[in-house]
Amino acid sequence: MTHIYNDPDTFKSDVLTGFAAAHPRYVERVPEASGFVRAGGPLAGKVSLVIGGGSGHYPSYNGVVGPGFADGAVLGDIFASPSAEQVYRIARAAHGGAGVVLAFGNYAGDRLNFGAAAERLRAEGVDVRVVWVTDDVASAPPDAGEDRRGIAGTFTVYKMAGAAAEAGSDLDEVERLMRHANASTYSFGVAFDGCTLPGASDALFHVKAGQVDFGLGIHGEPGISTTDWIPAAELADQLADQVLAERPTSADGRAAVLLNGLGATKYEELYVLWSEVEPRLRAAGVDLVEPEVGELVTSLDMAGCSLTVTWLDDELAPLWRAPADTPAYRRGQATAGSVFTERAVSADATAKEAQETAGPASRRDAKVALELIATLAATVEEHKERLGEIDAVAGDGDHGIGMSRGSRAATEAAEVAVAAGGGVRSVLGAAGAAFGDRAGGTSGILWGMLLDTVGESLGNQDPVTLGGLAEAVRAGATRVQTFGRAELGDKTMLDALCPFADALEQGAEAALPLTKAWQAAAEACTRAAEATAPMVPKVGRARPLAERSVGTPDPGAISLALIVTAIGAQLDQTCQTTLEESS
Ligand code: ADP
Ligand code: MG
Repeated sequence: MTHIYNDPDTFKSDVLTGFAAAHPRYVERVPEASGFVRAGGPLAGKVSLVIGGGSGHYPSYNGVVGPGFADGAVLGDIFASPSAEQVYRIARAAHGGAGVVLAFGNYAGDRLNFGAAAERLRAEGVDVRVVWVTDDVASAPPDAGEDRRGIAGTFTVYKMAGAAAEAGSDLDEVERLMRHANASTYSFGVAFDGCTLPGASDALFHVKAGQVDFGLGIHGEPGISTTDWIPAAELADQLADQVLAERPTSADGRAAVLLNGLGATKYEELYVLWSEVEPRLRAAGVDLVEPEVGELVTSLDMAGCSLTVTWLDDELAPLWRAPADTPAYRRGQATAGSVFTERAVSADATAKEAQETAGPASRRDAKVALELIATLAATVEEHKERLGEIDAVAGDGDHGIGMSRGSRAATEAAEVAVAAGGGVRSVLGAAGAAFGDRAGGTSGILWGMLLDTVGESLGNQDPVTLGGLAEAVRAGATRVQTFGRAELGDKTMLDALCPFADALEQGAEAALPLTKAWQAAAEACTRAAEATAPMVPKVGRARPLAERSVGTPDPGAISLALIVTAIGAQLDQTCQTTLEESS
């Protein structure tokens, strides 16, 4: 468990403060952002590699910021993707004028948040490439390699991309080499025990005492098989067999090999295992190029380890060998390796959008919107644990805590916007931005977009009507679908959101009173959410996990149904007189 902390909620920011204080030679904090750039800021003309993901995986990501490796690192809360806003802020601060590569391990939330940040950076004229690492062979079969999760192989892939950028490769070339490195990287892991979030009384997930869980994900995503304890020699057989099974025919034998500890497994244990792995790899014809044994990508205090092999060729071998100098990882004389010396002038902070004056009707309805956002937050809080449990069946168990962080921040932001005289659009916009920024994860960004789009559609002038609301919810559903690229039936929140939007539209057509129409729509939403139980998810999860989810409804659909139901009750109680009962 985690013994040292103040407040579990500030764990990440306390880590960042301590890390900045410990490593001023390497990194500097980006003001008001959750992460770092290299000390001194970006280098003029150099491609910047910005890596990131949830906290809890040190030395990923901040531990490897420095010459020869990353230019910036952005960190989300523990095991949760950083928000698009945070990725954007760190990438802007890291940009030296030659473009940015945003890189992360393949998880749905990271893909959405880094993708949204990339869209925003591109709109501002920054050339951005987005590369995600897919090395975990346990998470999907070879013919679905692009669906695989990213685990310890992120280390070798980032290392080689960082070396290419440091040597002066342009953006196209860094991206190409990075994709090549990813396609050459295979990892397989085992777990002996789960990990415990700071402040939690029990582990996030467990491995049965005395057992070994093969292929278990680093956030507890279910593995592929379990066995009783086996000696190191047998463990080495299993790890080497799994990874070598996918050796490409083009590989000449040279390989960057990593035996990675997940946090609670001792270095001594790793060396015992290496004494068995190394001869097996040699016997299989692997030419080990500067192998690494140690903690390079961890998962809090998870007990376990993984074996990674990146097959090298004449392009990748020099990049793997190249020097690097970072807080957690050093190789050779890195400062001599960089071709860049000039600092870039950092971009100005973005100008704040001018506040539009809201009309009196919208300011009145904005107060109702605030109440409803508070209801949303209270509903999430009430069902937080259950939502986490449903998410843990086939996901990472963070749906309750993510939604809770996001909705609390949304309520605070909405309070500020109402106090400042904002209308519906300003209040929902502020709430959406805060939700997306603080929740992390897939649902964080999607809920942020949903609130923002509903606000955008309702505007800051006119009173809210059922017709306007139905249109706004439809716009929100369309935005979520366009951005998240899920189809109906993929087992996501969309499967509950679309029926909700349909029913609201029907209510508007039938000229029902707003509260009646909302309640009918909430019932349709609830039925649709429950009907996700037998579905097989297609988005955001690897195939072995997909099957586990059958029988359990989708957490995002369930949370939506609970929220709109509670909002319906709230509307009935206190808002009838405030909102116009028009059709
Ligand atoms: P994460 O998946 O990052 O851990 P959460 O656990 O908070 O995030 O949210 C998971 C929920 O997000 C899923 O149950 C699903 O409803 C929703 N979701 C995931 N991917 C998509 C998508 N592409 N489109 C719509 N909803 C999605
Ligand atoms: Mg989750």
